[in-house]
Amino acid sequence: MNAPAETRKFEAEVAQVLHLVTHSLYSHKEIFLRELISNASDACDKLRFESIAKPELSAGDSELHIDVSWDPDARTVTVRDNGIGMNRNEVVANIGTIASSGTRRFLEAMSGEQKADARLIGQFGVGFYSAFVVADRVTVLSRRADAPAGEGVKWESDGKGEYSLEPVELAERGTAVILHLKADEDEFLSRWQLRALITRYSDHVAFPIRMPTEKDDKPTDEFETVNAASALWTKPKSEISDEDYQSFYKSLGHDFNDALAWTHNRVEGSQSFTTLLYIPSQPPFDLMMGGRDERKGLKLYIKRVFIMDAAEELLPNYLRFVRGVVDADDLPLNVSREILQHNRQLERIKAACVKRVLDLIEKLAKDEPEKFATFYKAFGNTLKEGISEDANNRERIAKLLRFTSTKGEGSQQTVALDDYIGRMAVGQDTIWYITADSYAAAAGSPQLEAFKAKDIEVLLMSDRIDEWMIGSLSEYEGKKLKSVAKGEVPLDEAGKKKQEEATKEAAPLLKKLKDLLGDRVGDVKVSARLTDSPSCLALSDYEMAPHLARLLREAGHEMPENKPTLEINPQHALLKRVEAETDEAKAKDLATLLLEQAEIAAGAQLPDPSAFVQRMNRVLLG
Ligand code: ADP
Ligand code: MG
Repeated sequence: MNAPAETRKFEAEVAQVLHLVTHSLYSHKEIFLRELISNASDACDKLRFESIAKPELSAGDSELHIDVSWDPDARTVTVRDNGIGMNRNEVVANIGTIASSGTRRFLEAMSGEQKADARLIGQFGVGFYSAFVVADRVTVLSRRADAPAGEGVKWESDGKGEYSLEPVELAERGTAVILHLKADEDEFLSRWQLRALITRYSDHVAFPIRMPTEKDDKPTDEFETVNAASALWTKPKSEISDEDYQSFYKSLGHDFNDALAWTHNRVEGSQSFTTLLYIPSQPPFDLMMGGRDERKGLKLYIKRVFIMDAAEELLPNYLRFVRGVVDADDLPLNVSREILQHNRQLERIKAACVKRVLDLIEKLAKDEPEKFATFYKAFGNTLKEGISEDANNRERIAKLLRFTSTKGEGSQQTVALDDYIGRMAVGQDTIWYITADSYAAAAGSPQLEAFKAKDIEVLLMSDRIDEWMIGSLSEYEGKKLKSVAKGEVPLDEAGKKKQEEATKEAAPLLKKLKDLLGDRVGDVKVSARLTDSPSCLALSDYEMAPHLARLLREAGHEMPENKPTLEINPQHALLKRVEAETDEAKAKDLATLLLEQAEIAAGAQLPDPSAFVQRMNRVLLG
């Protein structure tokens, strides 16, 4: 029995999305067409896929297509497909509620401080609602491929807060979305305009997009195909122009911008497959946030039949910015996600995708420095995750990383590990680096002083991920990577001797400081790192950098309280003053400030900032 006609309220969140979409998308209002065609194309893909197991689903009407028509009298634009269609429950679930957490994130982003870019709308799966940017009423007529003619559904809404549902008789399966245009949107009642939009955004949709021909400014009953309607990736490269590649990218990636670069390959042999992979020119908004939960952007086809979004199965996390298509000839069409996860053929395809993307990035680094810089700015930090995620490609990825350095171009990340090695002094076997909160904090670290004095280059790392990444990169091209803030400073024989003597000489001072600082320090030592500054912290080889420990603590993690080792420069005037100070309270203030300034420089957290301020004021006035 048919469910009765009824009116329902949108979920509160849908109403919010609708409000945001219609108010913020206005400058790109024409994307409604791309979004509706994209949904129609998905619906055709789904039917083709389900028909493999149930051929009766598309029996009698197996030519899948998408029709875009307009009616100047009724002032409507209609996008119709003969794809999978929806039953009543699906209509409610898919367009009356917000199921995807992506949309929730979109909502948070759009209403938060950050005023996210409305262009990202397609990526968050709120595509359908873009219809309400140009329409003040939208009617959806749909019938699922496995339902009889009497079980069609009519959904209608003005996009304000409610929608109506009623059963209708529909002779054909599939979905029609009818837009009743707003008063000032007559521009879309033109064949020329609609066709231009299809060419711009949807030319490479793999199904025929058809439009009525026109006579005396009126649409006729005759339809003709207006798009290329072929699977672009199956054509030979020589027949594909850059514009073709870019327009395919835009419909695939829901992006307005051109792709930065792409790589298109066909592998023939015991296992044949085609890959067409793109690097976008800008990071999608959720790359760093939730992007990992439900990744879209890489579509798996088997012999031109769309199977599923399989970004997670086909690319490692650190390449999650890549968009594209993989078309495999030899996988079984009834493949499921579970099968994919343990499929040896797929493992090989995945390895090939990784290789192609790394090849492409290497090529940019070598031949197109400007594009590489754009890439690195957008995705460099994501790529760094590969150092720990992809041990097999660690050296290749490490070669692509760029850092700031004491011999680099200011705060520009331009120094490659190979550049560093090329500048190493004879006999140097270590790549030195320091990690800090910011470029300025890294460049100003007291721990760098001895290295600067000896003209040894130090990489300055100040991205949050660096400290973590470097934990997986202990060696590169046979050279050890070490932090200048950790462990012992390497000294030659003469240096060691000097260091021993200095320590002996400073013994009373070291004891005095240890007594004054009590349990705030683990140890006090004479530093081989310092030349100008009075003091710095030294970490053991396995200790976490203080700025990172602070961040983790702020994020609610329990971190062990390591007592720092304080290193001092006995030649510095401040230490002479501590040595000479006979007033116990004054000496204690000075000693504590030496520790606290070292902690601040290392980005650590002062245990008691107001005590620090009072102490400093006493010393300033005293
Ligand atoms: P997305 O396409 O990212 O899932 P949309 O807002 O564009 O988000 O569409 C929401 C859902 O509505 C789709 O996932 C699909 O289930 C359903 N849908 C929309 N248009 C159609 C259509 N023409 N045929 C069948 N289902 C559709
Ligand atoms: Mg969509």
